[in-house]
Amino acid sequence: MKRPFMTEEHEQLRKSVQKFLQKEAVPYIDDWEKEKQVPRSFWKKAAAQGLIAPSVEEKYGGIGADFGYAVVISEEFEKVASGIGGIGLHNDIVIPYIQSFGSDEQKERWLTKAVTGDMISAIAMTEPGTGSDLAAVQTTAIKKGDRYIINGEKTFITNGFSADFVIVVCKTDPPASPAHKGISLLVVEEGMPGFTRGKKLNKVGQHANDTSELIFEDVSVPAENLLGEEGKGFYYLMEKLQQERLMCSIQSVASVQKMIDITLAYVKERQAFGKRIGDFQNTQFNMAEMQTKATIGQTFVDRLIIEHMQGKNVVDEVSMAKWWTSDLAQEVAIQCMQFHGGYGYMEEYEIARRYRDVAVHSIYAGTNEIMKVIIAKNMGL
Ligand SMILES: Cc1cc2nc3c(=O)[nH]c(=O)nc-3n(C[C@H](O)[C@H](O)[C@H](O)COP(=O)(O)OP(=O)(O)OC[C@H]3O[C@@H](n4cnc5c(N)ncnc54)[C@H](O)[C@@H]3O)c2cc1C
Repeated sequence: MKRPFMTEEHEQLRKSVQKFLQKEAVPYIDDWEKEKQVPRSFWKKAAAQGLIAPSVEEKYGGIGADFGYAVVISEEFEKVASGIGGIGLHNDIVIPYIQSFGSDEQKERWLTKAVTGDMISAIAMTEPGTGSDLAAVQTTAIKKGDRYIINGEKTFITNGFSADFVIVVCKTDPPASPAHKGISLLVVEEGMPGFTRGKKLNKVGQHANDTSELIFEDVSVPAENLLGEEGKGFYYLMEKLQQERLMCSIQSVASVQKMIDITLAYVKERQAFGKRIGDFQNTQFNMAEMQTKATIGQTFVDRLIIEHMQGKNVVDEVSMAKWWTSDLAQEVAIQCMQFHGGYGYMEEYEIARRYRDVAVHSIYAGTNEIMKVIIAKNMGL
């Protein structure tokens, strides 16, 4: 399918990313899953190829790449494994906050190292007691002179274990009413006293993706680590959620196509009752239905990619894409596993890993229920 936003340059990039991942990621995925982490050496190799934070401006060491680059990199990484998504979070979710709201000094300090893989980033919104209801966060950052003192706990933080700096969603004005007006974004750096990590969490899937708890006990952060203006944190988060949820949709669709492709190869080989599994009409109809839905999803997501690149506000449509494509990924995972028979349930078959990995697409980046809350609200309900 010809992708409308893809230029010759994007096509070239895709080929070089595929070649790089075949050599540097595919052979190691199982090891990374066991270690529950992608090693720093891989980040550095990817950075040398221009695949880490390519959107960063040249003066901070990046290549100033357009969003089409992000799409290609994200799709190709997703086709290898959802478990290396921590790089996507760094590239397309965390770094844009520094780009949009950081001062020149902050950009110099963090972006120059973020593009080389010397600094891995994370964003910490979710807490043990609150996820969907972001305005209810309990982590506080109280100003004392020219510093903020942070206290609280975050959980489910992607890259949490390896991050060198974390954007922490805090209440700088806890009694503020409405609550979201008291929220600010502060950058906490590795080595700051009182900042510790909990364990790497034991997830159902995406094992190579490090996900951790973060603990803040009287962490004294200089006021120059405040991102943007105090009290504007919630608005910054809302502004950036469009790209976060679009990336999630892009990954879901890429994963759907990958699952269809591996299943197609399987049903063309595997035999039962003297026929290929792909010769049964049930298989043909289900495969046809899945490919139809994948194409519809891709077409919609491609439209949103273009509109996002044009700077349009497509929050409503992105919310639709996010829930629909992530639900589709789960539906396709179940059907594709079924076509693999018992082998599909074996860990050494890729479809088993995919089945585990896509389950979380409907939960992170805002749950699918929250996507429907947004859509219904915009319908006047
Ligand atoms: C692998 C993984 C990686 C993650 N990475 C990060 C990260 O890097 N940074 C970060 O900050 N967070 C991260 N998260 C957290 C994630 O964003 C939250 O888990 C998610 O937002 C849901 O919050 P919750 O878990 O507290 O669920 P809850 O908010 O407790 O929701 C529980 C259930 O109630 C439903 N629900 C809640 N409110 C409503 C409503 N108004 N109407 C209808 N239904 C509702 C939800 O949809 C859900 O089904 C990650 C989570 C996972 C699993």
